[in-house]
Amino acid sequence: MPRTVYVNGEFLPEAEATISVFDRGFLFADAVYEVVSVLGGRLVDFDGHAQRLERSLSELAMPVPLSRDALLEVMRRLTVENGIEDGLIYLQITRGAADRDFAYPDPDTPQTVVLFTQSKPGLADAPAARTGLKVATCPDLRWGRRDIKTVQLLYPSMAKMAAREQGADDAWMVEDGAVTEGTSNNAYIVRGGVIVTRQLGSEILHGITRAAVLRLAREAQMTVEERPFTVEEAQSADEAFVTSASAFVMPVVEIDGRPVADGTPGPVARRLREIYIEESRKAAL
Ligand code: PMP
Repeated sequence: MPRTVYVNGEFLPEAEATISVFDRGFLFADAVYEVVSVLGGRLVDFDGHAQRLERSLSELAMPVPLSRDALLEVMRRLTVENGIEDGLIYLQITRGAADRDFAYPDPDTPQTVVLFTQSKPGLADAPAARTGLKVATCPDLRWGRRDIKTVQLLYPSMAKMAAREQGADDAWMVEDGAVTEGTSNNAYIVRGGVIVTRQLGSEILHGITRAAVLRLAREAQMTVEERPFTVEEAQSADEAFVTSASAFVMPVVEIDGRPVADGTPGPVARRLREIYIEESRKAAL
Protein backbone atom coordinates (compact mmCIF):
# COMPACT_ATOMS: atom_id res chain seq x y z
CA MET A 1 0.00 0.00 0.00
CA PRO A 2 1.49 3.39 -0.94
CA ARG A 3 2.33 5.58 2.00
CA THR A 4 0.86 8.94 2.75
CA VAL A 5 3.64 11.50 3.13
CA TYR A 6 3.56 15.12 4.25
CA VAL A 7 5.00 17.83 1.99
CA ASN A 8 4.56 21.54 2.71
CA GLY A 9 1.15 21.36 4.32
CA GLU A 10 -0.30 18.54 2.21
CA PHE A 11 -0.85 14.86 2.92
CA LEU A 12 -0.20 13.04 -0.37
CA PRO A 13 0.31 9.53 -1.74
CA GLU A 14 4.09 9.04 -1.87
CA ALA A 15 4.18 8.90 -5.70
CA GLU A 16 2.63 12.37 -5.88
CA ALA A 17 4.92 14.04 -3.36
CA THR A 18 7.58 16.21 -4.99
CA ILE A 19 10.03 18.97 -4.14
CA SER A 20 11.98 21.35 -6.38
CA VAL A 21 15.33 20.46 -8.01
CA PHE A 22 16.46 23.87 -6.69
CA ASP A 23 15.82 22.86 -3.11
CA ARG A 24 18.81 23.81 -0.93
CA GLY A 25 18.55 20.54 0.94
CA PHE A 26 19.36 18.80 -2.35
CA LEU A 27 22.00 21.31 -3.56
CA PHE A 28 23.80 22.24 -0.31
CA ALA A 29 22.57 19.81 2.38
CA ASP A 30 21.12 23.04 3.79
CA ALA A 31 18.62 21.16 5.91
CA VAL A 32 18.02 19.64 9.32
CA TYR A 33 16.23 16.45 10.24
CA GLU A 34 14.86 14.36 13.09
CA VAL A 35 13.93 10.71 13.48
CA VAL A 36 11.25 9.89 16.04
CA SER A 37 10.43 6.29 16.84
CA VAL A 38 6.91 4.93 17.15
CA LEU A 39 6.13 2.18 19.67
CA GLY A 40 2.63 0.76 19.92
CA GLY A 41 1.37 3.53 17.61
CA ARG A 42 2.67 6.30 19.86
CA LEU A 43 5.59 8.74 19.53
CA VAL A 44 8.66 8.30 21.73
CA ASP A 45 10.09 11.48 23.30
CA PHE A 46 8.33 13.88 20.94
CA ASP A 47 9.23 16.88 23.13
CA GLY A 48 12.95 16.03 23.15
CA HIS A 49 13.06 15.77 19.36
CA ALA A 50 10.98 18.94 18.87
CA GLN A 51 13.30 20.85 21.20
CA ARG A 52 16.46 19.67 19.41
CA LEU A 53 14.87 20.46 16.03
CA GLU A 54 14.18 24.02 17.16
CA ARG A 55 17.79 24.35 18.33
CA SER A 56 19.20 22.97 15.04
CA LEU A 57 17.06 25.45 13.08
CA SER A 58 18.09 28.34 15.27
CA GLU A 59 21.83 27.50 14.92
CA LEU A 60 21.38 27.73 11.13
CA ALA A 61 19.31 30.94 11.28
CA MET A 62 16.24 29.15 9.95
CA PRO A 63 12.75 29.91 11.29
CA VAL A 64 10.64 27.22 12.93
CA PRO A 65 7.99 26.58 10.24
CA LEU A 66 5.55 24.58 12.39
CA SER A 67 4.48 25.00 15.99
CA ARG A 68 5.03 22.02 18.28
CA ASP A 69 1.30 21.34 18.39
CA ALA A 70 1.05 21.42 14.59
CA LEU A 71 4.06 19.11 14.26
CA LEU A 72 2.62 16.64 16.75
CA GLU A 73 -0.64 16.68 14.82
CA VAL A 74 1.14 15.93 11.51
CA MET A 75 3.15 13.10 13.07
CA ARG A 76 0.07 11.57 14.67
CA ARG A 77 -1.92 11.75 11.45
CA LEU A 78 0.87 10.07 9.43
CA THR A 79 1.16 7.34 12.07
CA VAL A 80 -2.57 6.64 11.90
CA GLU A 81 -2.99 6.96 8.11
CA ASN A 82 -0.04 4.64 7.47
CA GLY A 83 -1.08 2.19 10.18
CA ILE A 84 2.29 2.41 11.95
CA GLU A 85 2.36 0.27 15.07
CA ASP A 86 6.17 0.15 15.41
CA GLY A 87 8.43 2.22 13.20
CA LEU A 88 9.89 5.63 12.56
CA ILE A 89 8.88 9.09 11.49
CA TYR A 90 11.46 11.02 9.47
CA LEU A 91 11.24 14.80 9.33
CA GLN A 92 13.32 17.14 7.19
CA ILE A 93 13.22 20.92 6.98
CA THR A 94 15.26 22.75 4.35
CA ARG A 95 15.92 26.42 3.69
CA GLY A 96 13.69 26.07 0.62
CA ALA A 97 14.21 26.40 -3.14
CA ALA A 98 16.12 29.26 -4.77
CA ASP A 99 18.64 29.86 -7.58
CA ARG A 100 21.88 28.12 -6.70
CA ASP A 101 23.99 30.51 -4.65
CA PHE A 102 26.19 29.95 -1.60
CA ALA A 103 24.60 32.96 0.11
CA TYR A 104 21.31 32.17 1.83
CA PRO A 105 18.24 33.26 -0.18
CA ASP A 106 15.78 35.90 0.92
CA PRO A 107 14.58 35.04 4.45
CA ASP A 108 10.99 34.98 3.13
CA THR A 109 11.78 31.97 0.90
CA PRO A 110 9.29 29.28 1.95
CA GLN A 111 11.01 26.40 3.71
CA THR A 112 10.50 22.83 2.55
CA VAL A 113 8.96 20.55 5.17
CA VAL A 114 8.79 16.82 4.50
CA LEU A 115 7.71 14.00 6.80
CA PHE A 116 7.34 10.31 6.07
CA THR A 117 6.99 7.09 8.03
CA GLN A 118 8.81 3.76 7.88
CA SER A 119 7.13 0.72 9.35
CA LYS A 120 9.45 -1.52 11.44
CA PRO A 121 7.37 -4.27 13.00
CA GLY A 122 9.00 -5.54 16.19
CA LEU A 123 11.30 -2.49 16.44
CA ALA A 124 11.84 -3.09 20.16
CA ASP A 125 12.72 -6.78 19.65
CA ALA A 126 15.64 -6.37 17.24
CA PRO A 127 17.63 -9.63 17.17
CA ALA A 128 20.87 -7.58 17.28
CA ALA A 129 20.01 -6.67 20.89
CA ARG A 130 20.55 -10.33 21.84
CA THR A 131 23.82 -10.83 19.95
CA GLY A 132 25.28 -7.31 20.13
CA LEU A 133 27.02 -5.27 17.45
CA LYS A 134 30.56 -5.41 16.12
CA VAL A 135 32.12 -2.01 15.48
CA ALA A 136 35.21 -0.94 13.56
CA THR A 137 36.89 2.39 14.27
CA CYS A 138 37.79 5.07 11.74
CA PRO A 139 38.94 8.71 11.89
CA ASP A 140 36.14 11.23 12.48
CA LEU A 141 36.35 13.36 9.34
CA ARG A 142 33.00 15.15 9.75
CA TRP A 143 32.56 18.91 10.06
CA GLY A 144 32.94 20.79 13.34
CA ARG A 145 29.25 21.36 14.19
CA ARG A 146 28.07 17.82 14.80
CA ASP A 147 25.70 19.14 17.46
CA ILE A 148 23.47 20.47 14.65
CA LYS A 149 21.43 17.64 13.16
CA THR A 150 22.00 18.38 9.46
CA VAL A 151 21.43 16.03 6.54
CA GLN A 152 25.17 16.05 5.62
CA LEU A 153 25.44 12.31 6.25
CA LEU A 154 27.85 11.24 3.53
CA TYR A 155 30.87 10.69 5.76
CA PRO A 156 28.94 8.59 8.33
CA SER A 157 27.51 6.64 5.42
CA MET A 158 31.04 6.00 4.03
CA ALA A 159 32.24 5.03 7.51
CA LYS A 160 29.41 2.52 7.86
CA MET A 161 30.29 0.94 4.50
CA ALA A 162 34.00 0.77 5.45
CA ALA A 163 33.01 -0.97 8.70
CA ARG A 164 30.89 -3.47 6.79
CA GLU A 165 33.80 -4.25 4.47
CA GLN A 166 35.75 -5.20 7.59
CA GLY A 167 32.97 -7.55 8.71
CA ALA A 168 31.62 -5.15 11.37
CA ASP A 169 28.09 -3.77 11.73
CA ASP A 170 28.90 -0.12 12.33
CA ALA A 171 31.75 2.35 12.84
CA TRP A 172 32.90 4.30 15.88
CA MET A 173 34.60 7.51 14.89
CA VAL A 174 37.80 8.64 16.61
CA GLU A 175 39.30 12.11 16.94
CA ASP A 176 42.42 13.18 18.89
CA GLY A 177 42.72 9.68 20.31
CA ALA A 178 39.17 9.49 21.70
CA VAL A 179 35.92 8.02 20.44
CA THR A 180 33.43 10.72 19.44
CA GLU A 181 30.35 8.61 18.58
CA GLY A 182 28.94 5.99 16.21
CA THR A 183 27.82 6.81 12.66
CA SER A 184 24.23 7.27 13.85
CA ASN A 185 24.38 6.73 17.60
CA ASN A 186 26.11 7.81 20.80
CA ALA A 187 28.84 5.55 22.23
CA TYR A 188 29.35 4.29 25.81
CA ILE A 189 31.55 1.94 27.80
CA VAL A 190 31.13 0.47 31.29
CA ARG A 191 34.20 0.08 33.52
CA GLY A 192 34.02 -1.05 37.14
CA GLY A 193 30.28 -0.33 37.22
CA VAL A 194 30.71 3.24 35.90
CA ILE A 195 28.99 4.23 32.65
CA VAL A 196 31.32 6.41 30.58
CA THR A 197 30.19 8.49 27.60
CA ARG A 198 31.61 11.55 25.92
CA GLN A 199 30.46 14.90 27.30
CA LEU A 200 28.21 17.13 25.20
CA GLY A 201 29.89 19.64 22.90
CA SER A 202 30.10 20.45 19.20
CA GLU A 203 31.99 17.16 18.58
CA ILE A 204 28.89 14.97 18.93
CA LEU A 205 25.16 15.01 18.32
CA HIS A 206 23.24 15.59 21.55
CA GLY A 207 21.28 12.35 21.41
CA ILE A 208 17.73 12.47 22.71
CA THR A 209 18.07 8.81 23.67
CA ARG A 210 21.39 9.63 25.39
CA ALA A 211 19.67 12.24 27.57
CA ALA A 212 16.88 9.81 28.53
CA VAL A 213 19.20 6.86 29.16
CA LEU A 214 21.57 8.89 31.36
CA ARG A 215 18.61 10.20 33.36
CA LEU A 216 17.23 6.69 33.82
CA ALA A 217 20.68 5.33 34.73
CA ARG A 218 21.11 7.99 37.43
CA GLU A 219 17.59 7.34 38.72
CA ALA A 220 18.57 3.65 39.01
CA GLN A 221 21.57 4.70 41.17
CA MET A 222 24.11 3.92 38.45
CA THR A 223 27.22 6.12 38.23
CA VAL A 224 27.74 8.10 35.02
CA GLU A 225 30.95 9.84 33.95
CA GLU A 226 30.74 12.18 30.97
CA ARG A 227 34.25 12.28 29.48
CA PRO A 228 36.13 11.13 26.37
CA PHE A 229 37.41 7.53 26.25
CA THR A 230 40.01 5.86 24.01
CA VAL A 231 39.59 2.82 21.78
CA GLU A 232 41.97 0.85 24.03
CA GLU A 233 39.86 1.72 27.09
CA ALA A 234 36.78 0.55 25.22
CA GLN A 235 38.40 -2.72 24.12
CA SER A 236 39.40 -3.49 27.72
CA ALA A 237 36.06 -2.33 29.21
CA ASP A 238 33.51 -4.59 30.93
CA GLU A 239 30.82 -3.54 28.44
CA ALA A 240 30.14 -1.23 25.54
CA PHE A 241 26.91 -0.03 23.96
CA VAL A 242 25.31 2.61 21.76
CA THR A 243 22.04 4.55 21.91
CA SER A 244 19.79 6.10 19.27
CA ALA A 245 16.10 6.80 18.71
CA SER A 246 15.75 3.82 16.37
CA ALA A 247 18.07 1.29 18.08
CA PHE A 248 17.26 2.33 21.69
CA VAL A 249 20.13 0.80 23.73
CA MET A 250 22.21 -1.66 21.69
CA PRO A 251 25.12 -3.67 23.13
CA VAL A 252 28.51 -3.58 21.37
CA VAL A 253 30.44 -6.84 21.74
CA GLU A 254 33.49 -6.37 19.51
CA ILE A 255 35.71 -3.38 18.66
CA ASP A 256 38.22 -3.65 15.79
CA GLY A 257 38.11 -7.45 15.98
CA ARG A 258 38.70 -7.59 19.78
CA PRO A 259 35.84 -8.95 21.93
CA VAL A 260 34.63 -6.67 24.72
CA ALA A 261 34.89 -8.81 27.91
CA ASP A 262 33.45 -12.23 26.94
CA GLY A 263 32.00 -10.92 23.66
CA THR A 264 28.35 -11.08 24.74
CA PRO A 265 25.91 -8.27 25.69
CA GLY A 266 26.63 -7.03 29.22
CA PRO A 267 24.17 -6.68 32.12
CA VAL A 268 24.24 -2.86 32.27
CA ALA A 269 23.39 -2.50 28.58
CA ARG A 270 20.66 -5.14 28.83
CA ARG A 271 19.15 -3.52 31.93
CA LEU A 272 19.24 -0.01 30.43
CA ARG A 273 17.62 -1.28 27.25
CA GLU A 274 14.81 -2.85 29.28
CA ILE A 275 14.26 0.27 31.42
CA TYR A 276 14.46 2.63 28.43
CA ILE A 277 11.92 0.70 26.34
CA GLU A 278 9.56 0.30 29.29
CA GLU A 279 9.72 3.99 30.23
CA SER A 280 9.44 5.12 26.59
CA ARG A 281 6.31 3.05 26.07
CA LYS A 282 4.77 4.57 29.20
CA ALA A 283 5.57 8.17 28.28
CA ALA A 284 4.90 7.94 24.51
CA LEU A 285 2.34 10.37 23.07
N1 PMP B 1 24.88 10.60 16.95
C1 PMP B 1 24.66 10.68 15.63
C2 PMP B 1 25.76 11.09 14.73
C3 PMP B 1 23.38 10.38 15.10
O1 PMP B 1 23.16 10.46 13.78
C4 PMP B 1 22.36 9.96 15.99
C5 PMP B 1 21.00 9.57 15.48
N2 PMP B 1 20.43 10.46 14.62
C6 PMP B 1 22.65 9.89 17.37
C7 PMP B 1 23.92 10.22 17.80
C8 PMP B 1 21.60 9.47 18.36
O2 PMP B 1 20.68 10.50 18.56
P1 PMP B 1 19.17 10.16 19.01
O3 PMP B 1 19.30 9.40 20.28
O4 PMP B 1 18.56 11.49 19.20
O5 PMP B 1 18.59 9.37 17.91
